[in-house]
Amino acid sequence: MQKNESLIELKNVIKCFNGSIQKFTALNNVNMVIKKGEFVVLTGKSGSGKSTLLNMISGIDVPTSGHIIVNNVPLHNMSGNQLAIWRGTNIGIVFQFFQLLPTLTVLENVILPMEFAGIIPISQQRKRGIELLESVGLQNQLNKYPNLLSGGEKQRVAIARSLANNPKIIVADEPTGNLDSFNAEIIYDLFNFLNQQGKTIIYVTHDRNINLNYTRIVKLVDGQIDEIIINEESQFNNTGVSL
Ligand code: ADP
Ligand code: MG
Repeated sequence: MQKNESLIELKNVIKCFNGSIQKFTALNNVNMVIKKGEFVVLTGKSGSGKSTLLNMISGIDVPTSGHIIVNNVPLHNMSGNQLAIWRGTNIGIVFQFFQLLPTLTVLENVILPMEFAGIIPISQQRKRGIELLESVGLQNQLNKYPNLLSGGEKQRVAIARSLANNPKIIVADEPTGNLDSFNAEIIYDLFNFLNQQGKTIIYVTHDRNINLNYTRIVKLVDGQIDEIIINEESQFNNTGVSL
């Protein structure tokens, strides 16, 4: 598989929020191209625009101006409804506070996005859910409710759920922000594995000690890209071609 195709393009992206007193510019002319197979880490201080940028890429929110093209689809022209449908099949999302539904079992939480999107045949949804939970080491917790799980286990359920419809892109917003270092390592390993499997990953963190095989770190300051650090040791940057 060639890895040098552009998968995500942001052109002159500006995002303003209308506060009660004045307009606030959360993203100030962001330009970025993310290639297929990349593992991009977004960093920056709290309030620098990381979540806002991630929300633009995942279609959770739309820019005030500028273009966002993901997998050849121009998101900036889409309605909220269109975006929700598109997101359900094209993006896996992992949040800091897991966002599992407490009234559904672990397995039901993972199957739910399959039911919404209707891409995985109904007859295969349960089997796929079990396999995804096996892949994150939770095969013994299928029928538990989320409140009985540890934080690390909840995040592994959320990762399994993000894979439900086999998206090309996974975005994660501080997924280890609420975990101890032992559980954080397990989550790092899972993201490294997913990237090796060909998923393109955009991962927000302000932790400096990350054991992630990232291709680039992009640092935001006040809604602008301030610095880009390329990981020379990444296979991606050395060859441009995956194994
Ligand atoms: P980060 O994730 O880097 O901490 P965010 O992207 O969440 O930062 O926020 C960037 C800035 O935009 C912050 O100053 C925040 O207060 C502001 N902001 C984010 N979302 C909204 C919103 N819905 N309404 C108003 N201001 C917002
Ligand atoms: Mg944030």
